[in-house]
Amino acid sequence: MTDGTDIGKILKRYWGFDSFRPMQERIIRSVLDGHDTLALLPTGGGKSLTYQVPAMAREGLCIVVTPLIALMKDQVDRLRSLNIRAVAVHSGLSQRQIDIALDNCVYGDVKFLYIAPERLGTDIFRLRVQRMNVCLLAVDEAHCISQWGYDFRPSYLRIAEIRKLIPDVPVLALTASATARVAEDIMERLEFGSPNILRGSFARSNLSYAVRHVEDKNEQLLRIINNVPGSGIVYVRLREGAEKVAAFLRDEGIEADYYHGGLPNAERAQRQEAWTCGRTRVMVATNAFGMGIDKPDVRFVVHYTMCDSLESYYQEAGRAGRDGRRSYAVLLVSPDDLQRVNSRIDNEFPPLDQIKQIYEKICSYLCVAIGDGLQSSFVFNIHDFCAREHIYTGKVQSALKILQQNGYLTLTDEMENPARIMFCVSRDDLYKIRVERNDLDHFLRTILRMYNGVFTEFRAIDENEIATVSGYTVEKVKELFKRLWQMRIIRYIPSNRSPMIFFDEERLPTEDIYIAPETYRLRKEMLHERIEKMAEYASNDVECRSRMLSDYFGDTGAEDCGICDICLARRKRKRTDEALCERICTELGSRPATIRDLAAKIGGDPQPVIDAVQRLHEEGRLATDASGLISAVRQDEKNGGHA
Ligand code: ADP
Ligand code: MG
Repeated sequence: MTDGTDIGKILKRYWGFDSFRPMQERIIRSVLDGHDTLALLPTGGGKSLTYQVPAMAREGLCIVVTPLIALMKDQVDRLRSLNIRAVAVHSGLSQRQIDIALDNCVYGDVKFLYIAPERLGTDIFRLRVQRMNVCLLAVDEAHCISQWGYDFRPSYLRIAEIRKLIPDVPVLALTASATARVAEDIMERLEFGSPNILRGSFARSNLSYAVRHVEDKNEQLLRIINNVPGSGIVYVRLREGAEKVAAFLRDEGIEADYYHGGLPNAERAQRQEAWTCGRTRVMVATNAFGMGIDKPDVRFVVHYTMCDSLESYYQEAGRAGRDGRRSYAVLLVSPDDLQRVNSRIDNEFPPLDQIKQIYEKICSYLCVAIGDGLQSSFVFNIHDFCAREHIYTGKVQSALKILQQNGYLTLTDEMENPARIMFCVSRDDLYKIRVERNDLDHFLRTILRMYNGVFTEFRAIDENEIATVSGYTVEKVKELFKRLWQMRIIRYIPSNRSPMIFFDEERLPTEDIYIAPETYRLRKEMLHERIEKMAEYASNDVECRSRMLSDYFGDTGAEDCGICDICLARRKRKRTDEALCERICTELGSRPATIRDLAAKIGGDPQPVIDAVQRLHEEGRLATDASGLISAVRQDEKNGGHA
């Protein structure tokens, strides 16, 4: 409260926005007052500004821990476009690039350092961080620190150690998904001075949630698409499903396309673009479609298959109606869906010895020998691996997740990877080649000078930098690399897009891999619990859906939304009820009758009539005499007036 910083001015000056969103200002004030703060805001709620604005108000650097490299790059680009200096440190960079970035944080005037959690444990970071002038430590996706969260990452536990290296720096933890238990855990593990939670609303007042229980999902989907104008997303679980449903919609004359992780990047970008600008009306997609969707006028999001958590559901459904206009989020459920979701649990948890086998196979695939690999990263194409080893992708994904949770390795999200090279001839042979092939000598010398160690392992290289140093164009550099590769002098992996595996620990002999049975069991139970909650949401037919979601995220003060299928049904019921009561009063007002005669006169199911009569009695609007004749009580009589 005492802080007089004009944060509104900073918001306007750098971002050009006129006002803060709900809760942003309170969070920023709390941080500026030096309090450790846990901020809970839904996705899209504007969490980034809550650390960016206070950092701009203070001297020094803001460190941001975040696990998703794509989002990290996005933020860095955005800040740079605002003329704010920001750097990113993650496993896709070469050692040299990391060195330079961290140096700039010590000596340069970098304002934001984005860092992937698995990098926190490296010596190079620990040594430098102590020399940085840090004003704020922001922890994005803070639920990753909790075992109870749905995406636990042990590397997040290192943040507490980093805090010890920079005491007196407040921490701001951010997440869109924390149950009460996870929230407690976050504050404890980040060693908050005192508990301090600021929670925004999870209600989306223009989003109408609905669940449809159907036998024929296609028919229902078609009905929704024909009833709701504008563009939308249909989420399915599997790639084949995406293709099939899109084909069905196209057959029905709807401009639909599909999107999943198996498509080449250029293709994906092109399809997303066509949908964003409205040429494609409906995108049928797996959950790979999500990152970087910035389309405000999505009118509907239909889930053709069930998610395995309400976290995912809320996030995916929430892509509808960003512009504030009425939009629809519909979940389609068929009778055997629940059983199907439950069977996923077994796939997600391969037996322990299978996990170990997969670990061994991955290490061999990546050519990492026992004892090697510590803190190194490797491009990992999971589809190539699975095809080669004939293992189901989902199983490998699950095994990787479990290995990650036990601290052995980290699988990053997909990223732009630099080109990599390694010499496959000895130094002596290379010398001979240089003498023989005079035209290549200058190029080879440049590489050797810039990158040592290329004789023993794959090294990330920067083709632009090589071009600058050597004086060749980038095209020429790439061409020369290809030639060296054809001559079998080097192995060359051109730049590509793929996830990476980072080894938090050196490769261990397979028998030494230890997966704690308690954590394994706990994770399985938690997955079960999450699916259960999803199932509850799907089968619920009494509670407002929006409120149910808010409750799940710990936002317990929410009110009924009035626009979900449950609220609408309730309102409709109320209206028919009122109409029935009016009718009964009119009937009995002209002539008293027994309940039997009354029900016969009104017709249909007698039960609603019996219920309504009972209620009207309680309200004093009807009276029954000794012979069982019911009559309407005149309202002036009831009010004690004289006839
Ligand atoms: P989150 O991290 O909570 O999912 P982001 O920080 O990415 O959300 O913000 C989502 C979007 O909202 C961004 O495009 C951001 O520029 C915009 N935004 C955030 N705060 C404001 C504000 N006060 N006024 C206008 N736009 C805002
Ligand atoms: Mg964010």
